[in-house]
Amino acid sequence: MDLKENLMQVEENICKACKNAGRDRKEVTLIAVSKTKPVSMLQEVYDLGIRDFGENKVQEMCDKMEIMPDDIRWHMIGHLQTNKVKYIVGKTALIHSVDSLHLAEEIERQAAKKDVMVSILVQVNIAEEKSKFGIHKEETFAMVEQIAKLSHIQIRGLMTIAPYVENAEDNRAYFRQIRQLSVDIREQNIDNVNMDILSFGMTGDYMTAIEEGATMVRVGTGIFGERNYKKVV
Ligand SMILES: *Cc1c(COP(=O)(O)O)cnc(C)c1O
Repeated sequence: MDLKENLMQVEENICKACKNAGRDRKEVTLIAVSKTKPVSMLQEVYDLGIRDFGENKVQEMCDKMEIMPDDIRWHMIGHLQTNKVKYIVGKTALIHSVDSLHLAEEIERQAAKKDVMVSILVQVNIAEEKSKFGIHKEETFAMVEQIAKLSHIQIRGLMTIAPYVENAEDNRAYFRQIRQLSVDIREQNIDNVNMDILSFGMTGDYMTAIEEGATMVRVGTGIFGERNYKKVV
């Protein structure tokens, strides 16, 4: 696995997509999704300049945090159980996967205890897939309004996991929908709510995502290769 070559290819694609969309490369953050991968591989990618890493399990993320350099921005991108919130509050740059008021309230409780502000995204199940977490599109306004009242949480935008498709074009309409949703929310000017971050696009569709306004793309396989779910740290 030549991580350097993979990373260069991803970087080239990101630049191409930015160019297609008339966007500045600086508007897009590449998150290296390192779940199931050993820290030796994370370190290699770190040494190539990556500072944003995405993990989907609390224990694995915490283990890696202890070993890896402390200027890394850690992104929680997986479904988060309320009983695990306490382990990551104050340690993550961004929690992408807030999908209930109940979860937001627990983040608030832990953040208040530690006297920190926690940046979050609201996860929307834009394609309404039964197998995926995230709230319904129609619930988003109400959820954002409720979470905005919590004083230790800052809503920064929206996240979605698009369907797995062979052809990235098939997800373009979903990406447009989520972006439009963020525009509609922004126009409400809710206190304590920013909509400056849009987290969507994975290995199969990140170029299309960037063309449709993503500001964070989450790329795992494209950088680290296929995952073997047995091996951790
Ligand atoms: C695993 C994962 C990714 C990365 O998926 P790839 O297809 O390997 O790029 C992105 N986002 C989330 C939420 C994930 O769980």
